[in-house]
Amino acid sequence: MAEISHIEWTDATWNPVRGCTKISPGCAHCYAETFAERFRGVPGHPYEMGFDLRLVPEKLLEPLQWSRPKMVFVNSMSDLFHDDVPDRYISAVAQVMCESPWHTYQVLTKRSPRLRTLLGSQLIRAAQQLNIWWGVSIENKRYGFPRLEDLKNTPAAIRFLSIEPLLEDLGRIDLEGIHWVIVGGESGHGARPIKESWVLSIMEQCQAANVPFFFKQWGGVHKSRAGRLLRGRTYNEFPATRPHSIPNRRERDTRTAQLVQHLSDLVGRKKEYAL
Ligand code: SF4
Repeated sequence: MAEISHIEWTDATWNPVRGCTKISPGCAHCYAETFAERFRGVPGHPYEMGFDLRLVPEKLLEPLQWSRPKMVFVNSMSDLFHDDVPDRYISAVAQVMCESPWHTYQVLTKRSPRLRTLLGSQLIRAAQQLNIWWGVSIENKRYGFPRLEDLKNTPAAIRFLSIEPLLEDLGRIDLEGIHWVIVGGESGHGARPIKESWVLSIMEQCQAANVPFFFKQWGGVHKSRAGRLLRGRTYNEFPATRPHSIPNRRERDTRTAQLVQHLSDLVGRKKEYAL
C-alpha cells in the first residue's frame, strides 16, 4: 500500500491482498477494517470495496521497483493466509520476496494452521530465507498459544511474535526457537486496557532467553499521549539483518520481466478482483 509506514517496527507496507475477516478477539477493533471501511463506495479509491477481501495482482511486483532496501510489512491491511487467498497467489507473493533479498519482509498472520502447512510444503524455499520473517499474532493464551505452537512447527529460519493487542497476562511463554517479540497495547476508540506487569513479564522472559524485544506502544484512546516508554526507556530491538546490496535499475527490471513471465497467469489479470 505505501512505500513509507508509520508502524514503529517497519519501514514500508506492501499489500498484494486487501481486506480480511475477523477470526479472534484480537480483531475486535481491527485498524485495517476501520481504515478501509471509511472509503467504501468512494469511486477509484483503493478501498472502494471497503474491507472485502480481494487480490491486487498489480501490486505483486511493487517491491522490485523500490530503489532502496526496506523492512516491509507484508499485508498490513489483510492476512496473507486467509482461507480465501488461493495457494497459487500466496506462492507468487513468496516468490517475489525470494527474488528481492535486499528487502527484509515481515509476514504476520492469525491463520497459523495454514502458515504451518504451506511453509512445510510449497513455501519451503521462502521459509528458509533469512530476509523473510514469519510471525503470528498473540492477544491472549487461548488463541495465541496454539498459533505459537504452529509457528514453532514450521521450518521458518526467522520466527517472530506480535503480541498486540495484549489483552491479558500471558504467564510463561515458550520462547524456544523465537527470534523476535513485539508487544503493544490496543489503541483507538474502545481500546481494551493493558497492564505494565503483563509487559514487564514478557520483557523479562525475552531478556532471559536472549530474544530481541520491541515495545511498540501502551495504546489507549490517546495513543500518542501514552507513548512507548517502558520503565523510562524505549525498547527497539530487532533480529540481526544481513545487509544485501540492491541491484541497479536495469537488473531489477530484468528480474521484474522474468517474474512477469513466471506469474503471467496472475499479473496479466485485471487490476484487482474479489473472489
Ligand atoms: S486478522 Fe488482522 S487484518 Fe484480519 S480482521 Fe483480524 S486484525 Fe484485521
